[in-house]
Amino acid sequence: HAKEEGRNTYQFFSEEMNSRVSERLSMETGLRHALARNEFLLHYQPRVNTTTGRIVGVEALIRWQQPQKGLILPDAFIPLAEETGLIIPIGEWVLRNTCTQARAWQEAGFAQMRISVNISCRQFTHDNLPDTIRGILRETGLQPSCLELEITESVIMLNPERAISLLNELKEMGISIAIDDFGTGYSSLSLLKRLPADILKIDKSFVSGIPGNKSDETLVATIINLGHNMGLGLVAEGVERQEQLHFLEERNCQEVQGYYFSKPLPAETLQPLLKNGTYPAAAGRQQPTDAR
Ligand code: C2E
Ligand code: MG
Ligand code: MG
Ligand code: MG
Repeated sequence: HAKEEGRNTYQFFSEEMNSRVSERLSMETGLRHALARNEFLLHYQPRVNTTTGRIVGVEALIRWQQPQKGLILPDAFIPLAEETGLIIPIGEWVLRNTCTQARAWQEAGFAQMRISVNISCRQFTHDNLPDTIRGILRETGLQPSCLELEITESVIMLNPERAISLLNELKEMGISIAIDDFGTGYSSLSLLKRLPADILKIDKSFVSGIPGNKSDETLVATIINLGHNMGLGLVAEGVERQEQLHFLEERNCQEVQGYYFSKPLPAETLQPLLKNGTYPAAAGRQQPTDAR
C-alpha cells in the first residue's frame, strides 16, 4: 500500500516537474526568437505632477506578444530573460525604442517629456551599460536629461560600491536615476545618502494601503519626508483611487503614477493624452475625464 502511494506521489511530482521543465524550455526557445520576430512591444504609463496635474513623463513597460499565448506581462518573462542573459539584447532593444519614441514625441511638440526605463540586475552589472546608452543617445538624438533609469534597491545592494560608481558615471552623462520599488529592499540610510539618485519611487504595495492602513500610512509618510530631507524627488506608484491621491498630495508627494490616471498604453493611444497634457483630477481634485 505504502509503496504504491509512494510511487504515485513520485509520479505526480515527476509529471508536474516535467511539464514545468518543458514549459520553461518552450518559453526559453520562444524568448530566444522573440526579438528577431518582433514580438516585443512597449506600453507607456504617464507620470503626473500632483500640483499642476500635468503629465511630466512616462515609464516604458515591456510586453511580449506571444503568438500562441497572447500578451505576456514582464513579471512572467523578465526573470527568465535575466537567467539566460537574453535581458542584455532585450534591454538594449527597450532603450533604443524608448529613446526613439521619446525623440518622436519631442519632435511632435511634447517638449521636455521625461522617459523612464527599468534596468534589471544583469543589465546593470553588465560591462558596457554606459557605453550602450551613450551610443543609443547619440543614435537617436535624445538629450540625456530626458532619460531616467529605474533601478531597484536590491540590485544596488548586490554590490553597493560598484553601483555607486556606475550611477555616478551615468549621472555625469546627464541621465537621471530613480530608485524603484523603494521601501521593499534593504538599503541603509547611510548608503542612500551616498547614492547619486534623483528620485525615490514609493512601491505600490505601500500605496495600496493608504489611507486606512496605519503602518502603510506611516511608511509612505516617512519615505516622503526622507525624500524631502535628502533633496530627492518622489513618485508614488500604483495610485488607483482618489483617496490615495489626496493622501499623497497633502504630504507633498510631487508625482504619481497609476491606474487612477492611466494604465500603461501603446504610444499611439497615449499620444492624445500627451497633447492635452493635464489631468484635472490631480490639480483640481475632480474625477479624471477621458483618462480612465
Ligand atoms: P515596476 O517598474 O515597478 O512597474 C510598475 C508596475 O505596476 C507595472 O507592471 C505597471 O503596469 C503596474 N501598475 C501601474 N499602475 C498600477 C496601478 O495603479 N495598480 C496596479 N496594481 N499596478 C499598477 P508591469 O508592466 O507588469 O511590470 C512589472 C515589472 O516588470 C516592472 O515593475 C519592472 O520591474 C519590470 N519591467 C517592466 N518593463 C521592463 C523592461 O523594459 N525591462 C526590465 N528589465 N524590466 C521591466
Ligand atoms: Mg519601474
Ligand atoms: Mg516600481
Ligand atoms: Mg515593481
